[in-house]
Amino acid sequence: MANPARLEAVLFDFGGVFLDSPFAAVREFGERAGIPDDGVLELVFGRYDADTDHPWHRLERGEIDFLSARREIIDLSTAAGHRVDLVEAFATLVRAGIRAEMVAVAREVRAAGLKSAIVTNNVREFGESWRAMLPLDELFDAVVDSHEIGLRKPDPRIYEHALGLLGGVAPASAVFLDDFEGNVAAAERLGMQGILVDHDDWPRAIDRLRSLVSRAAGAHA
Ligand SMILES: [Mg+2]
Repeated sequence: MANPARLEAVLFDFGGVFLDSPFAAVREFGERAGIPDDGVLELVFGRYDADTDHPWHRLERGEIDFLSARREIIDLSTAAGHRVDLVEAFATLVRAGIRAEMVAVAREVRAAGLKSAIVTNNVREFGESWRAMLPLDELFDAVVDSHEIGLRKPDPRIYEHALGLLGGVAPASAVFLDDFEGNVAAAERLGMQGILVDHDDWPRAIDRLRSLVSRAAGAHA
């Protein structure tokens, strides 16, 4: 077996990794509203593994504001025979807490001498609330927020941007964690190692990351 490249950096998604999954929150909303699973996800998030003109994608790229996206998605969903209001769709997510164990492993990443970053598809209007949930300065060398740079995962340029901010880490020396398969696949296509954070079994992702980090810490020693 070829020697794997030495691990130098860990890139974390935020929603669905440190916080509960936004997809699960929207699915629960769909159940309450009687909208089928795939239908409600597509109405809110569009085709999430593509980068399109869906209002949610434009919102994540910082091209429109939250209220415009909310209005457009109400119109889109009404035309499809449902009524999807983003404020209601995310209601359960807002109540969810941070996963302390994920914060613990992020601390271990830095203690092992590795670099770390957040790479989040996010929304200007959520900025203050999500940033207040984590000690960002303590845990991360860089925070990449889609709406600030006009790029959203799975666009490969957002991963390259993050690796650049970390001092030009090679993709093969980086691990990326995300709860959305399409985002993990895009990182893997660039040569990064991907870890999918499963909504129902997220501690497994922590175990995998922890074993990579302890191996890297051993190699550094
Ligand atoms: Mg996510």
